[in-house]
Amino acid sequence: MFYDVIIIGAGPGGIFSAYELAQKAPQLKVAVFEGGQALEKRRCPIDGDKVKSCIRCKSCSIMSGFGGAGAFSDGKYNITNDFGGTLYEYIGKQKALELMHYVDEINMRYGGEGTKLYSTAGSKFKKLCMQNNLHLLDASVRHLGTDVNYVVLQNVYEYLKDKVDFYFETPVEGIEKMDGGYRILCAKESFTCKKCIVSVGRSGSKWMENVCRELGIQTKSNRVDIGVRVEIPAEIFSHLTNELYESKIVYRTEKYGDLVRTFCMNPKGAVVSENTGGIVTVNGHSYSDPAKQTNNTNFALLVAKHFSEPFRDSNGYGESIARLSNMLGGGVIVQRFGDLIRGKRSTPQRIKESFTVPTMTATPGDLSLVLPKRILDGIMEMIYALDKIAPGTANDDTLLYGVEVKFYNMEVDVNEYLQSSHDGLYVIGDGSGITHSLSHASASGVHVARHICETI
Ligand SMILES: Cc1cc2nc3c(=O)[nH]c(=O)nc-3n(C[C@H](O)[C@H](O)[C@H](O)COP(=O)(O)OP(=O)(O)OC[C@H]3O[C@@H](n4cnc5c(N)ncnc54)[C@H](O)[C@@H]3O)c2cc1C
Repeated sequence: MFYDVIIIGAGPGGIFSAYELAQKAPQLKVAVFEGGQALEKRRCPIDGDKVKSCIRCKSCSIMSGFGGAGAFSDGKYNITNDFGGTLYEYIGKQKALELMHYVDEINMRYGGEGTKLYSTAGSKFKKLCMQNNLHLLDASVRHLGTDVNYVVLQNVYEYLKDKVDFYFETPVEGIEKMDGGYRILCAKESFTCKKCIVSVGRSGSKWMENVCRELGIQTKSNRVDIGVRVEIPAEIFSHLTNELYESKIVYRTEKYGDLVRTFCMNPKGAVVSENTGGIVTVNGHSYSDPAKQTNNTNFALLVAKHFSEPFRDSNGYGESIARLSNMLGGGVIVQRFGDLIRGKRSTPQRIKESFTVPTMTATPGDLSLVLPKRILDGIMEMIYALDKIAPGTANDDTLLYGVEVKFYNMEVDVNEYLQSSHDGLYVIGDGSGITHSLSHASASGVHVARHICETI
């Protein structure tokens, strides 16, 4: 089977490539190959009743399928160059922002209309943070919420399904270069195309590394972020979340000078587990529908670790720490902040007596047996710093879930069109190591689609 363009991966990067191609070059024959399932078939078996924790499905419905890792996410589209990726280094700051706004307009057209766009511009919290040695990063945040995000994906799929061939549950095994294009190898068949867009996200990171090795594409080591997910009663952060929804706050530790930052804030949300290649880590999301909201707010506190030669395997380092927590807790570990600072393991009884009621079932344990001292010290310092702008953050009953690890793919060597050293082979989204967010991944998809329209 021959296609003009084959897209590998149906996450935001792949979807927005397909959308832009369908809009700007409807004459092209386009296919999307996705290892996971169609949107309506994606179901995480954890129901909190019969299945309480991750059973390590072959293809994780949270991470894979139409919508990619973002399908059940909180749908926070951060329109900023300050975090979420370094797309601007390749295409320029203005263009990156323009593309993120363009993506936002499409989301509004396909079901997101009426959702709120928050902004840090002119916020009084900037000053309050600075006065307490904390730094609030600039961003506009479109919060779709898990439910509206799902509706947008459904509507975009409805638009695309007759214009693009979708192959679900069809993981691509390899890419071969041939005269004038590429051969895409799947388990039962192979397909050929003139141009190929690879958008395999974090779940495809190992596969991406193999493809780069086989095709001689240069990569360089990226960072890994390690930390915990903090859960507190929603009232404690409500003054911040009501105005900003998500605040990205950075703190430099006094002890080591490391940077610790808040990440993925979910007001009135739930803590969830996530399975990346059999390793269970923690994450969070929230709903815009009040009926589905909880009494708690959760966010991650993360410390970035960069490694230089001779050690390149930042993800391997993060995986080892996550494996350790899985070994001790059978999955995610939860600990009360009060227990942590007193050097005590949290027990099921202490968690039961906690005034903060956990939104996820995790194994009560001791995070100090899992996280390296330097990282844990930094997290504890930041909790005390946040307590100054949101008193109550350092309460004994604040819950810490571990570990949260943000794996970043090796950064793939691409040019300003996100094209690899092979003509017509593009690497975009989180799989390229360049983006780490919904808005940046989506914007990268639009960018390559436009380049293909100009050159094919
Ligand atoms: C629980 C959760 C919450 C999140 N919340 C937010 C948020 O609120 N805001 C935000 O900005 N970001 C959030 N993120 C991150 C965001 O989802 C990602 O940055 C974004 O999805 C990246 O898009 P992508 O298209 O590059 O990759 P992905 O979304 O990871 O999609 C890649 C797709 O490729 C498929 N694939 C992989 N390998 C192959 C292969 N060999 N063959 C075929 N298909 C393959 C995968 O199955 C997957 O569906 C969240 C992530 C998670 C897990």
